[in-house]
Amino acid sequence: MTGRAADGSTTSPGKERRIAVDRLRSARVFDLLDETYGRHRWRSHGTPLDELIGTVLSQNTSNVNTARSFRSLRAAFPTWEAVRTAPEEAVIEAIRSGGLARIKGPRIQAILSAIARAHGRLSLDHLADLPIDAAKAEMTALHGVGPKTAACVLLFSLGQPAMPVDTHVHRVSGRIGLVPPRTSAAACQPLLEDLLGRDRDRILNGHLNLIAHGQQVCRAQRPRCESCPLQSDCDYYRAVRVSGDG
Ligand code: SF4
Repeated sequence: MTGRAADGSTTSPGKERRIAVDRLRSARVFDLLDETYGRHRWRSHGTPLDELIGTVLSQNTSNVNTARSFRSLRAAFPTWEAVRTAPEEAVIEAIRSGGLARIKGPRIQAILSAIARAHGRLSLDHLADLPIDAAKAEMTALHGVGPKTAACVLLFSLGQPAMPVDTHVHRVSGRIGLVPPRTSAAACQPLLEDLLGRDRDRILNGHLNLIAHGQQVCRAQRPRCESCPLQSDCDYYRAVRVSGDG
């Protein structure tokens, strides 16, 4: 006997039971993460274009360096149009403190030019009125903008239920088993969004708390499983630690 899933595909009773168990387990995991690292309140980081440029600046650097290079860029150029039309070397110089300036400077100018060509002005405010998948597609069509950056803009600027999957979110959700083994970071995004009910606040907390867990406990090298509150729900712990393989 088969049932029909939300996307119209058919499911067997066994598969439906497995999905229900996975949802219960993932709800428990996210609740435990909230209890451990706290609940965060959403507030907009700024306009979608500010968030997009800030996220490009954040690639491969710390939050402190990102904030410093963003401030320096805005101090050097009063508008995004001024950044777009400035000599390349001047933009590179303005963001030097953030690292990888020779890559990020031209990338930012190319993104600004693509937006100006497409919309006749430097704004992404219209993304708020698009279906979320259309907004993601528009942003990822820009050179140098991937699914994580697009999700940052949607979540942090516009308060849309999009999950940015960084290295911590990817590693921790894979170890726990929230997503199937060897799921890519890009493929992780819709799976986690679905597990969190496409709910903005659940996704915000899931994102921030998976990062906190990845930084403090489930580190890339030698995860601190002995002091982890997620042991009983973690596939890695069951497979590697309990079986004595690790
Ligand atoms: S039990 Fe270990 S592998 Fe699993 S989430 Fe905790 S620290 Fe990570």
